[in-house]
Amino acid sequence: MEFPMHDNDLSAIVEADRAHVWHHMFQHAALDTRDPRIIVEGKGMLVWDQNGREFLDAVSGGVWTVNVGYGRERIANAVRDQILKMNYFAGSAGTVPGARFAEILTSKTPGLTRMYYCNSGSEANEKAFKMIRQIAHQRYGGRKTKILFRERDYHGTTIGTLSACGQKQRAEHYGPFAPDFVEVPHCLEYRKQWDVENYGLRAAEAIEEVILREGPDTVGALCLEPVTAGGGVITPPSGYWEKVQEICRTYDILLHIDEVVCGMGRTGEWFGYQNFGIEPDFVTTAKGVASGYAAIAVMLTTEEVFSMFRDAPEDPLGYFRDISTFGGCTAGPAAAIENVAIIEEEGLLANSKAMGARLKSGLEALMDKHPLIGDVRGLGLYAGAELVADRATREPLSEKLVGAVVADCDRQGVIIGATNRSVPGFNNTLCFSPALIADEGDIDRILDAVDTALEKVAAEV
Ligand code: PLP
Repeated sequence: MEFPMHDNDLSAIVEADRAHVWHHMFQHAALDTRDPRIIVEGKGMLVWDQNGREFLDAVSGGVWTVNVGYGRERIANAVRDQILKMNYFAGSAGTVPGARFAEILTSKTPGLTRMYYCNSGSEANEKAFKMIRQIAHQRYGGRKTKILFRERDYHGTTIGTLSACGQKQRAEHYGPFAPDFVEVPHCLEYRKQWDVENYGLRAAEAIEEVILREGPDTVGALCLEPVTAGGGVITPPSGYWEKVQEICRTYDILLHIDEVVCGMGRTGEWFGYQNFGIEPDFVTTAKGVASGYAAIAVMLTTEEVFSMFRDAPEDPLGYFRDISTFGGCTAGPAAAIENVAIIEEEGLLANSKAMGARLKSGLEALMDKHPLIGDVRGLGLYAGAELVADRATREPLSEKLVGAVVADCDRQGVIIGATNRSVPGFNNTLCFSPALIADEGDIDRILDAVDTALEKVAAEV
């Protein structure tokens, strides 16, 4: 495909970026020796940079977001039409696309009937945390304020969500944090913490042990990613979720599932939790809600939770006293309505499953050839390949060499990801989250690039 802006000189943009933009999660000293990358255009699975270089994007916009791919005219048109008619109104009033999208999305989440609009995954999680705390005060006399989170899970970048961060280095230097957030062990069987046969059950029981240690009457909620994303693409072992659900019911603990990454078809179902047959009390989701065409995040909850707030009119503090200014933007739900329609009309849940299976089995096949791959995990178009220096000891491959694999794929024109540097020792998992429109050719190209890159890097080990 031709790069449509190839005649334009973008050097002024590059310099403006270098001079004024503070990039996310980035050590700017790297730009002493190279230009910043500016992504100028995208179409389908492809993006082009300022030099007209074409890349196959295997990470949906860097951080698992652009689920329906780039250049969707129907989303752009819907947003344009909507914002010309009515771009924004917030506070206690609703909007037409806000009501429509809430009806559409809750039809995909049996049991979760109420939706709260905001702008980012962090913010959606904060909303759930605030509701959980308010319930603790209104229903349990100030007890049950503790929120459990899991090692290696991530829930956002605010002080509140960093208080619930299972990737310790992300939080380093940003404290002090909010009290009453308590960590539970992770469930990654490849990095075993217990030598048992039924690992899923044991990992779930470890949560119960924390609850009993803390006192069940102090614990209000458990917040988990259905499949841990940046902490290593961790698919839970079988038996895990059934036990987690049972534990929550036994101790009257609300289950908050963070679907910021897994939501909107990433795992082959609308939501990750739907693969495991569980019934959460809160679901938060963001990235794929409008595939990055507009900023929108939502928190979904049950009628039971909703009624705890609605049925307290005599208490002046009894309703949810929260607002999100840009939760009143109509661009988000207008884009999200089209996003859902595209996923349905193009059969992208089924494609996520089918192409995800091809990607995962392709990565598994690469294990025969490349001892650097220690473990392959994933669900739907959401896969990880954990790299090790030594398969026997499972010693993680160094950050430098993992970076070299990512860089070599980039040189081949394929953008892949890796777990972030915030998880020391475990920043060694290659991440793949292509748009749900990926076809066999795209998957094979990703696999070829990884194959070539691993061959080169193996020579350096
Ligand atoms: N939850 C999970 C699982 C995430 O991966 C992220 C971001 O990567 C967040 C929450 C935070 O979302 P946001 O960056 O939109 O605030």
